[in-house]
Amino acid sequence: MALEQGWKKFRGHQIFQWLYRKRVSTIDEMSDLSKDTREILKQNYSLASLELRDKQVSSDGTCKYLFALEDGSLIESVLMQFDYGKSICVTSQVGCNMGCAFCASGLTKKKRNLTSGEMVAQVLYVQQDLDKTQDRLSHIVVMGTGEPFDNYENVMNFLSTVNHDRGLGIGARHITISTCGVVPRIYEFAKEHTQYNLAISLHAPNNELRDQLMPVNHAYPLEKLMEAIRYYASENNRRLTFEYILLKGVNDKPEHVKQLAKLLKGLNAYVNLIPYNSVDEHGFKGVDHASAMVFYDALMKQGIRCTIRKEHGADIDAACGQLRIKHLRKEEEGR
Ligand code: SAH
Repeated sequence: MALEQGWKKFRGHQIFQWLYRKRVSTIDEMSDLSKDTREILKQNYSLASLELRDKQVSSDGTCKYLFALEDGSLIESVLMQFDYGKSICVTSQVGCNMGCAFCASGLTKKKRNLTSGEMVAQVLYVQQDLDKTQDRLSHIVVMGTGEPFDNYENVMNFLSTVNHDRGLGIGARHITISTCGVVPRIYEFAKEHTQYNLAISLHAPNNELRDQLMPVNHAYPLEKLMEAIRYYASENNRRLTFEYILLKGVNDKPEHVKQLAKLLKGLNAYVNLIPYNSVDEHGFKGVDHASAMVFYDALMKQGIRCTIRKEHGADIDAACGQLRIKHLRKEEEGR
């Protein structure tokens, strides 16, 4: 909701300063605003507050936060430490409707979209945690539970706030949105010409397999997806990422390397090979490092750049949505 009070611009600057620099948690703390101004703000707005329910810290520094939103919904955010900086993985929806066969998030259907404020709040909370050691979040990935392109407007509002100079000032090139392939939104995103990175969860190089793993493929099969991606590439001079979880005996065969190479040929892109975090409820298994290397080498030989994603938080509930599911189960048992 836009605030149309006819206030001077500097009021907005003051409010941004309180929210994102001083990081207050109540409007009353905004002490250089008059009491009347604070009252108007309080009547029209509230600051999204998160209640920490659980926090798991891994030996590699990965930190998983379980939050309750104001309506009691549970969401997760993950802090990951890289050589190049600290990155937060943000949740965009409560549950997810995409139904990918291997993913923990889809075990519960989407309850609702997160507001942009609730996404900003995840970043602020983790940043406040880092303030204690004078560290700074440098990167954001929208790769937590949910499909960001099924909550497009709120995600874009969220990102412009954290990207804004007077917000958290996190560089657009340090922000990545990951989608399972909601084609109409890829076109919309392409037309916005932002500097955010786009990652596509591919996970299968042919329709037969992708249909089995990712129901979204029924609505937007690979031909439509690749057409949208080629349009994006023609409009934006940005390198694309394709995510590909290696699932043992499913999508890790030599024929898949060939199909993948054919699909991606000529694109300014690279494939991020992802070790699978196994989810008890699904039957899939990941591959060992040696098999991942074989796939990697074969793909490189086909002229496709790729990387193997380093595992983070292997000793905690690292897979998307795992910690949340565990808590939901506990709540059910308690009933
Ligand atoms: N809906 C978006 C963003 C959330 S999922 C998308 O599909 O891209 C973020 C990434 O994690 C996706 O590539 C997803 O396929 C992957 N993922 C889901 N479950 C996983 C698991 N158990 N192990 C490893 N990666 C997983």
